[in-house]
Amino acid sequence: MPGTELYGAAEKKEIEEVLQTGIFFRYNHENVRNDIWKAKEFEEEVKKITGAKYAHAVSSGSAAVIAALTSAGIGTGDEVIVPPFTYVATIEAVLLVGALPVFAEIDETLCISAEGIRKVLTPKTKGICLVHMCGGMANMDEIMPIVKEYNLILVEDAGQAFGASHKGTAVGLFGKAGCYSFDFFKIATAGEGGVLVTNDEATYKLADSYTDHGHDHIGTNRGMEQHPIIGFNYRISELHAAIGKVQTARVPDIIESNNRNKKLLTELLSKTEGISFATLVDPSGDSATFLNMLLPDTTTAKAVVDEFNKAGVGGFNYWFINMYHFINQWEHVKQLKAASKLPAEVFGTPQGYNDLQLPKTQEVIGRLISFGIRCTWTEDEVKTLAKNIIACVEKVVVAEKA
Ligand SMILES: *Cc1c(COP(=O)(O)O)cnc(C)c1O
Repeated sequence: MPGTELYGAAEKKEIEEVLQTGIFFRYNHENVRNDIWKAKEFEEEVKKITGAKYAHAVSSGSAAVIAALTSAGIGTGDEVIVPPFTYVATIEAVLLVGALPVFAEIDETLCISAEGIRKVLTPKTKGICLVHMCGGMANMDEIMPIVKEYNLILVEDAGQAFGASHKGTAVGLFGKAGCYSFDFFKIATAGEGGVLVTNDEATYKLADSYTDHGHDHIGTNRGMEQHPIIGFNYRISELHAAIGKVQTARVPDIIESNNRNKKLLTELLSKTEGISFATLVDPSGDSATFLNMLLPDTTTAKAVVDEFNKAGVGGFNYWFINMYHFINQWEHVKQLKAASKLPAEVFGTPQGYNDLQLPKTQEVIGRLISFGIRCTWTEDEVKTLAKNIIACVEKVVVAEKA
């Protein structure tokens, strides 16, 4: 993955600065920290790239989703529209803030579609937790009018789309709050970390307090100030923020390299019968962390995955491997199996999760094979990969015709 591909001296220098002060906490200790504030600097880097008015770094992308939902006003008993294709953290976050997930269909953007949202809207719908999947973006031109018409709270989980944009606006900034993950598998990593963004001051202040036990952070003596709300500890450490800061600064270069490699790979594959690609609503806003291939049908995709495995080509289909991104792998979610009782059990679920029909989503995910793009690939490596992919797909397509 791109961020971890480029780990090096700059990260070590930033960590060294923190180690020298011995202050790993993002607040207080002004007299001994040599004016080193890595969490704040990490947030500034995220603001530079996204154009967000406010950014708040937390302990993980999952924590950022919980904080975004909560500070946007989503809580116990609220119905929230979610996708059946996302990293499971999105759904966990909705359940753990006490809300009730309502699954809507995705389309070839790999994100929930306007059509999917309209089909599950009810007078009880409070919000949408939209996910920008696989480095790309949802169709915001079609989704935003629904958000406005029904006065919904929009929260964007852009956990795997940091750096991506939709017609000039960073994903994460369309709704009340958005979030990014900086875990080990994302375009930039902090080791563990997440960032919440918003253009709304009130939402930012709530998130800032909520993620640190409700402290209002007014004044310099954190811990002794006012506590307007109940919160919890989702703080990021200075060590993680130091890495996140450097990695984030690398993102524009990573996106450029990713796009170059993805463009070449796409060109080389596009003439092959049977290969098409997921829809990119705004190709110029792609973070290009994945090439998402669509095969004609699930049976073909399965046969191609088998050929890829035999030939060691890589690529993964979210249905045939147990990768925890797809509703078919979420039996425990459907049955609300938790360590303790969830509000969803008390309120009743808005959908019968066990006989949920999502034919469009099943069809799209069944046909999908994704490749992680590496920013350090050489042209020859891309060409070899393309050649290997084509050989496998052609073999399957020829066999199917026979
Ligand atoms: C990675 C990811 C998360 C979780 O992020 P962590 O930093 O691992 O907690 C949440 N949502 C999506 C869509 C993700 O891809």
